Amino acid sequence: NKQVIFKDYVNGYPKESDMVVTSDATISLELPKNDDRLILLKNLYLSCDPYMRGRMSKPFEGTYIDSFVPGLPISGYGVAKVLDSTHPDFKKGDLISGSTNWEEYSLITNPESLIKIQHTDIPLSYHTGILGMAGLTAYVGFYDICSPKKGDIVFVSAASGAVGQLVGQFAKLYGCYVVGSAGSKEKVELLKKKFGFDEAFNYKEEQDLGATLKRYFPNGIDIYFENVGGKMLDEVLPNMRLQGRIAVCGMISQYNLDRTEGIYNLIFLLMKRIRMQGFLVIDHYHLYPKFLEMILPLIQERKITYVEDIVKGLENAPAALVGLFTGKNVGKQVVLIAHE
Ligand code: NDP
Repeated sequence: NKQVIFKDYVNGYPKESDMVVTSDATISLELPKNDDRLILLKNLYLSCDPYMRGRMSKPFEGTYIDSFVPGLPISGYGVAKVLDSTHPDFKKGDLISGSTNWEEYSLITNPESLIKIQHTDIPLSYHTGILGMAGLTAYVGFYDICSPKKGDIVFVSAASGAVGQLVGQFAKLYGCYVVGSAGSKEKVELLKKKFGFDEAFNYKEEQDLGATLKRYFPNGIDIYFENVGGKMLDEVLPNMRLQGRIAVCGMISQYNLDRTEGIYNLIFLLMKRIRMQGFLVIDHYHLYPKFLEMILPLIQERKITYVEDIVKGLENAPAALVGLFTGKNVGKQVVLIAHE
């Protein structure tokens, strides 16, 4: 059973060498009949997500999720096929999405997070992204946390990624004016040509972010969908409009720093009566059925599009995960392990 093993807790930027791919472990493809809660999975797709960096750190106070265990496989969201099951709710041949391990085959003893996949006309990999955690995050973050109004001026950072590309499209469908930032020329093109953002810029090429924001938002920003934190947040604050909303979804620019950067412009929260609110998608899974009801027709009617960056092979999973923190991924980062 080929696996990606987490070696040891990480400081600073994660590296491929923080994980090792081995084929040492064996797994029995026969389930013991005396346990009625076992599910044997063949993993098909794995999701690479920025929150996994937090799991690579030593357990720390205030964290909302367990750290990975050195010596054991990385775990995360994925799509898999049930090879065998003694659990009454799952049967051989079912396709599922949910928590699994970074290995070819997984024996699952706690299937609480597993969701049976019903909609097989949609690419299976979508269940790691648009139909998975990233999709629900964009949905909750935009419609709920941002309290949008038609005509609002919206700014999305890390806009071409798994979450950002959806937030931008939701905002456009809602009748907002939308600008995105991303880290390459190719991504900026995607934002404008494929996802329909009104404007987009490459933040890495801008010397003075404050002046850039003034240029793209001469009348200010109503909604900032925050994915990156740090300097970008600091420069956004004075550019917000009265009663603006900032949804703090993530702060990826800070995840690999020993000490997070200072934010100097917080006074604007007060001066502009801004509401800034953090949220975690894990608190909102009760909305998943409602979210599916909205998103499935949008996908089927091609009113929404989703770009994935699919790498093949478990051995390439460590590089794919690490690549999130240098912006190597173009769209949702997925690892294809096996076909159905
Ligand atoms: P993405 O697909 O957007 O991948 C990460 C992207 O972040 C990279 O491609 C890169 O894009 C950008 N990035 C990396 N390092 C930096 C940096 N130093 N400064 C600015 N941008 C950087 O990931 P997701 O869409 O999955 O996640 C986006 C954000 O949402 C993350 O902050 C994540 O933690 C958060 N999140 C929060 C959830 C919640 O429940 N609150 C749930 C899911 C995600 P570029 O080339 O544009 O720099």
